[in-house]
Amino acid sequence: MTEGRLVVLAGPTAVGKGTVAAYVQEHYPQVWLSVSVTTRPPRPGEVDGLHYRFVDDATFTRMQQDGELLEWAVVHGRAKYGTPRTPVQAAIDAGRWPLLEIDLQGARQVRRTMPEALFVFLAPPSWEELVRRLVGRGTESPEEQRIRLETARAELAAAEEFDVVLVNDDVRGSAEMLVSLMGSPPVSS
Ligand code: 5GP
Repeated sequence: MTEGRLVVLAGPTAVGKGTVAAYVQEHYPQVWLSVSVTTRPPRPGEVDGLHYRFVDDATFTRMQQDGELLEWAVVHGRAKYGTPRTPVQAAIDAGRWPLLEIDLQGARQVRRTMPEALFVFLAPPSWEELVRRLVGRGTESPEEQRIRLETARAELAAAEEFDVVLVNDDVRGSAEMLVSLMGSPPVSS
């Protein structure tokens, strides 16, 4: 079995990063999806320890100060998000392939500390389609949508900083392409 390479998956809000990452996690057990810590409250259906580790601000600050985070950022000017360092290393040591689904600021930090990682940018087929997906999922208020679209404009302009840009036309296709970039054969269809 080939050794896995750390892959950072970034891209604007509502582009489908979470869906692609979930598809990969379901179909490719050798891929290990990092669970971030966040100070934002859980949404309905989100499970602590599975989707995120939900922590308070004091805990997040302590983790930051103790060097427990590989990267961290304030996303959309609201909550803090970070990648715990130890589980990523443990996954690499166990021969699994870590996948980080994080924002642009976090991707830039990982680029500085782990330049050997593969940086993949998931792009929407068009700006109109991105807006349609964000509004269509209906999980954000109009004000939250406006903030996210502002961030998205800036993030789209950064696509060229990445090693690979994948246009997310179709979740399965993007997931398979992502895994093939990681060097893995599919284990199920
Ligand atoms: P949401 O609140 O919708 O789950 O996520 C908002 C944004 O935070 C997404 O763009 C997601 O990629 C980003 N994000 C999630 N976890 C992390 C993390 O650990 N670090 C960074 N930098 N961004 C993250």
